[in-house]
Amino acid sequence: MKKILTLSVLLVSMSNILTTNAKTIAEELKPTADLVLVNATVYTVNDQQPHASTIAIHQGKITYVGDRKGVKKYIGANTSIQDMQKKLVLPGFQDAHVHPMEGASLETFIGCDLVDISAKVDDPELWIDEIKSCNDIPAPHNWILGGGHDHHQLMNLDRLPKEILDEAFPNKPAAFMEKSSHSMWVNSKALAMVGITKDTPHPQGGKIGKDAKTGEPTGILYDSAGDELMHKALAKTPKLQAARYQAILNSQELLAKHGITSAVNARVYWIRGNLEPWLKAQQQNTLKARNIMALWAYPHLDDDYQLKQLKAMYQNDKASLLRVNKVKFYSDGVPDLNSAAVLDPYGVLVHDQAEPLGGNYFTGKRLAKYITELEPTGFGAIIHAIGDRGTREALNAIEAANKANPKLTGNKRRHYITHVRWVSEQDIPRFAALNVPADTQMNYIDYEDYDSGDYYGDEALYDLLYANNKSNTDALPAIHKAGAKIVISSDWDVASIDPLFSIQNALQEFKGAMPKADIIKLAVKAYTLNAAYALAQEKQTGSIEVGKYADLIVLDQNIFTIPATTIRDTKVILTLLGGKEVYRATK
Ligand SMILES: [Zn+2]
Repeated sequence: MKKILTLSVLLVSMSNILTTNAKTIAEELKPTADLVLVNATVYTVNDQQPHASTIAIHQGKITYVGDRKGVKKYIGANTSIQDMQKKLVLPGFQDAHVHPMEGASLETFIGCDLVDISAKVDDPELWIDEIKSCNDIPAPHNWILGGGHDHHQLMNLDRLPKEILDEAFPNKPAAFMEKSSHSMWVNSKALAMVGITKDTPHPQGGKIGKDAKTGEPTGILYDSAGDELMHKALAKTPKLQAARYQAILNSQELLAKHGITSAVNARVYWIRGNLEPWLKAQQQNTLKARNIMALWAYPHLDDDYQLKQLKAMYQNDKASLLRVNKVKFYSDGVPDLNSAAVLDPYGVLVHDQAEPLGGNYFTGKRLAKYITELEPTGFGAIIHAIGDRGTREALNAIEAANKANPKLTGNKRRHYITHVRWVSEQDIPRFAALNVPADTQMNYIDYEDYDSGDYYGDEALYDLLYANNKSNTDALPAIHKAGAKIVISSDWDVASIDPLFSIQNALQEFKGAMPKADIIKLAVKAYTLNAAYALAQEKQTGSIEVGKYADLIVLDQNIFTIPATTIRDTKVILTLLGGKEVYRATK
């Protein structure tokens, strides 16, 4: 009996194999495309075949790249042929560092927007009348939440910063995130909600602003101190989860509109329940890009607990539009709060709790422990490092993990550092040596307004902060020259989400390092194939090549031939994700 059963099972499975094989062979004999793009100016980002005019797509994948003549045998009765009218076709952009849900949440549940008022009026005392209206904004939580100011605007007031918010919001806890996202401005009710008093110690990775004379909390929470308060404010409720889901849907429209076909959500606050609405979007098929989740590594959590939780959330099906295969660490903070970790002491300290060598969210030793533990699972680390010491410690941690896991190869080890710019000369060659892509943002400065002095950041302050600095504060061209992969990302909503804005800015950032045409090519590669490499999906996407997903975009002008100062005006007119249209511009 047992034998007969085994045999019949075997026969059934053999016949399955035969039919599957028969289908595959038939398909190969007649590889009819679903869609063929003709008469295009294709820049493939594939060095073997950089240019083409024609692309064939079948079942979401690219089956042909070449000229029009060669595509004939791919065209059948059901093939849709689209004339691209000579427009530029590129691989879809890949944003290796963006905050899709949080960026879109300003309109869904973080309703009190300080961006405009803080740009127009410098003195927060004069904001009170206007921001009082935020008391009336309906929200899926019981807080007043918002952001967009610059924390320097809160530095030289006649009273404690929290007292301004107490006046505007006497009855509700209020919290405002500054535009770099590295500090929170809160009122007394918010401090009381989380029990912060003058006796509360500073948490790992953060500082509680305290008055120099009285020790009273000032109402400014630096770095991780603010994150912990937000967990209380945004702890999950059904209402809030619905708002988060809506923010995700909105973010997908925005990504598709900007030609971004892969996006790394660079900080998933999983304790607040932020992963769940993404899983819902995956289930309901509402995603319009390949979304890669970078789970936030909390500095205050117990290591064993946190590592176990992170591993349990891992998922990495390459065909799915949602993957959970990155962990986001902060090595350090930001220089203008003295929280970036530096090798030489800051030339000036901007607040009473600041330390001359900056701070660490994660020390180098702890980073090494986490990466060593997580990379065998398949997780890649994304490490925020801004200071030269922070960057060195991040490289050291990756190096230590390499040594601890000598057998791991290939895409099991795709860690990258983000915000790379400020690097000690001796660390510059280590990016290439350790195979660590250098991810950076090029959208913080609006070079059109640069000469008029209207740009992101305060140059005079940076001169003071960097007074003792011996490292290279503009290290990207040198890192590129040393052979490392450069990746450009947006960090939206800290700055513009538009890849074309960054690509134009790259001409300024790499000025003098190479000819203009090569800079544009490098910037496109940094936003496509190099990013795909950082995301361990360079075999599936990132260039226009046979066998890869048809993640493609069409632009309204050719960025390689137009005057460089107009690249940022370029618009995406069509976005295809796996051969499917996810965005088309209306005329
Ligand atoms: Zn970010």
